[in-house]
Amino acid sequence: SLADLKAAQARLVQQEKMASLGMLTAGVAHEIKNPLNFVTNFASLSRELLDDLDAEEDPEEAQALREDLRVHAERIEAHARRADGIVRAMLDHARSGGGERRPVDLNALVAEHIDLAWHGACARDPGFSLRVGTDLGDGVGTVELAPQEIGRVLLNLIGNAFDALSEGDVAAQSDEEPHVTVTTRRREDHIEVRVADRGPGVPENVLAKVFEPFFTTKPTGQGIGLGLSLSYDIVTQGHGGTLAVEPTPGGGATFVMTLPVRA
Ligand code: ADP
Repeated sequence: SLADLKAAQARLVQQEKMASLGMLTAGVAHEIKNPLNFVTNFASLSRELLDDLDAEEDPEEAQALREDLRVHAERIEAHARRADGIVRAMLDHARSGGGERRPVDLNALVAEHIDLAWHGACARDPGFSLRVGTDLGDGVGTVELAPQEIGRVLLNLIGNAFDALSEGDVAAQSDEEPHVTVTTRRREDHIEVRVADRGPGVPENVLAKVFEPFFTTKPTGQGIGLGLSLSYDIVTQGHGGTLAVEPTPGGGATFVMTLPVRA
């Protein structure tokens, strides 16, 4: 019956949210170790510096030690803030439906989610070696958006690019060329975010279907085909933007998201 179908669909939507949450959590666990190591190291170095300072009689040397301590404290603060930001991004993501909008530094949001997607992929696959390049435009600035929702879109697009590349057929030729490039640009009345991969691209006969709910070419268990349809809804209905796919020059797929900038 229709009610059963609706319930089943709702369950799958929830499943997709949990899958992207799982990806994010793996990324968070992996990435948060890094700032925490810095905090631990700088804190223990600071304790040693304090011991030195207690023993120091030369005022000039003592002053230099105090300067070092100040620098350490600043580093501890910066890395702790970074860890805090990562945890907050995860909590935002987990909060279901909470599509609350606020002015967000778009380039920072993009950079954060590239990191999360990349670390998530590393956590799941220790042999993961794809390179992500960025070209974050000047003047992109602040956009009024729901950060956890747009974050979810970014994770989907970048995750799909990684999946496409792990299927083989990598079009990137040189060793330095990134496999995935994320570009942001400020246009007249909108912001453009492009996620371009050098994978096999989207075949012609599939192009029209990629944004349809439950369309997937991935093996069962790996894809349920909701990532792009949820992303499409978030961008178009949720934010009045557009989401489209086009070929990457030289091979691959490029997903282009635009978000309107209100005065
Ligand atoms: P899922 O990832 O669960 O399959 P999506 O809605 O995210 O669901 O993607 C739907 C389909 O779109 C994928 O199965 C794949 O066939 C195609 N697709 C998405 N991103 C890419 C890409 N970067 N390159 C090639 N094909 C893609």
